[in-house]
Amino acid sequence: MPKKKIEKIVIGSNNKGKIKEIRDLIPKKYRIFTPSQFKLKSPVENGKSFKENSLIKAKKFSLKTNMVCIADDSGLEIDLLNKKPGIYSARWGGPKGDFNLAIKKVFKALDKKKKNWKEKKISARFICALTIFGLKKKPIFSVGKIEGYISNEQRGLKGFGYDPIFIPKGKRKTFGEMDPKKKYKIDHRYKAFKKIRKFL
Ligand code: IMP
Repeated sequence: MPKKKIEKIVIGSNNKGKIKEIRDLIPKKYRIFTPSQFKLKSPVENGKSFKENSLIKAKKFSLKTNMVCIADDSGLEIDLLNKKPGIYSARWGGPKGDFNLAIKKVFKALDKKKKNWKEKKISARFICALTIFGLKKKPIFSVGKIEGYISNEQRGLKGFGYDPIFIPKGKRKTFGEMDPKKKYKIDHRYKAFKKIRKFL
């Protein structure tokens, strides 16, 4: 069967930080679109895992735009908080997606769990599940992770979300202090993408 020639891809996210990063990963031969260009809102993420939620988004945006869609669902797991905020990472920012609020919530939850947590290494990881929908008969899935620690204070203004409190293993800087180009080459999204880029 001849290979379907794909020229356009929609990035299944309304999160500016993610769009910027995924746009950088996709080969330049594609024309990239975003849901806001079609006035499409993000669907309710009622899946039980990162994988399920990424499929919900990829499927909706692909069917609504009639394009191949690559969508991600991602978040931060903190071991001391029993892997919270996890799939609720975006929701901890409240209806306006306020990440200062989400970070405050993380610090408050850690204070409650362990008074002296700031003197300890608090292990955590970012996880990203990617789904490509509309390219093959079945959706293509991939998961990437980056292990690290929670910083005892917010550091850096780069990036988005929880970047100012995440220090990747073996580094000193938080993702919020790191040059985004450097972050993009080591993070959870890049690792997930690497496994499925052969399809694009
Ligand atoms: P969702 O996948 O749209 O439900 O949202 C994922 C949330 O996880 C984001 O809104 C951020 O809070 C957080 N997150 C995911 N990836 C990153 C990252 O690379 N840096 C910082 N925060 C992230």
